[in-house]
Amino acid sequence: MTPIYSKLPNVGTNIFTIMSGLAVEHGAINLGQGFPDFQMDERLHEAVYRAMREGHNQYAPMAGHLPLRISIAEKIFLTYGQKLDPGTDITITPGGTYAIYTALTTILQAGDEVIVFEPCYDSYIPNIEVNGAIAVRIPLSLPDYRIDWDAVRAKISPKTRAIIINSPHNPTGRMLSALDMETLDLITRDSRILIISDEVYEHMVYDGRKHESVLKYPTLRERSFACFSFGKVYHCTGWKMGYCIAPHALMSEFRKIHQFNAFSCNTPQQVALAAFLKDESTYLELGQFLQEKRDLFIQLMKGTRFSLLPVEGSYFMCATYQQISHESDMDFAMRLTRDIGVAVIPLKAFYQDKPDTKTIRFCFCKKTETLEKAASKLAQL
Ligand code: GLN
Repeated sequence: MTPIYSKLPNVGTNIFTIMSGLAVEHGAINLGQGFPDFQMDERLHEAVYRAMREGHNQYAPMAGHLPLRISIAEKIFLTYGQKLDPGTDITITPGGTYAIYTALTTILQAGDEVIVFEPCYDSYIPNIEVNGAIAVRIPLSLPDYRIDWDAVRAKISPKTRAIIINSPHNPTGRMLSALDMETLDLITRDSRILIISDEVYEHMVYDGRKHESVLKYPTLRERSFACFSFGKVYHCTGWKMGYCIAPHALMSEFRKIHQFNAFSCNTPQQVALAAFLKDESTYLELGQFLQEKRDLFIQLMKGTRFSLLPVEGSYFMCATYQQISHESDMDFAMRLTRDIGVAVIPLKAFYQDKPDTKTIRFCFCKKTETLEKAASKLAQL
């Protein structure tokens, strides 16, 4: 057998696969991987069946079904006041993670540096490294998990090609402010630095907050890839459907990569989404819906010894457990799944080599009864 040399020698199976597998094996309630345990909107099912019956079953155009791109352009104008050209600025992708991967692959040359803020979603660093580039990790400042912009200035070098931002943030549930965005704009304006903006939780924002999209800032938008997810917004993560927005010059290079990878996405789902997206209540009501879940979870968790961290957006909540155990967060998460029957994600999974923070992440996008059952199990600790 001729050996192959791993392109990701330091990477194993990702944490979501491990914890969801363990949850199934032990029959545990899964508050780990970020997905809902309730049914999505039936109108979308019907629209997909209809599209299939009407014969929308062959390849969609490489960039995506045009009516869907038009609906997205309308949505972006409504939400962020930015006019997009659906012909050139939007590409439909098989999920948000794929959009991020493709954006990085589009722009990175070997030896380029990309700034990431830890803790960060687990795909970013492998996506950078598989392209022969270098992840420059900057810790978010505790206790609030804020970006230290002086640290960013200090880490920028002639090799810096991109900065990855993510708001609302996975795993911490924190959000970037308008001041953060203005600072990012100032720091990068006269540079070669591009922005990859992971905005998949854009509508999960609470207590009257507003999501600061890069698309709201014309000079940021000029050098950004903004990545979005229908799976997160419409409770259908298994559809693997998302999109990327970038200015024409960047997007035409992105499409060169995409066309030789997925090429195009599921056609009937795109036809269905094109019509569904026109009803703005389908995404604007998500914040209120999930805020109620967040508040319920906070209430239920009062019966436990976990200390919950504040959540401004996203459907994740972090908690520390020093009062319960001295185990590492990985061991604790494993034990919770196996012995208590609740699967969670250890925060360690979002760091390369951070000392153990004794913090875990819950996903609260679950049915009321699921949250109640999980909280009563967690109260045993
Ligand atoms: N985004 C989801 C999360 O953070 C998981 C995606 C995945 O399983 N790769 O839970």
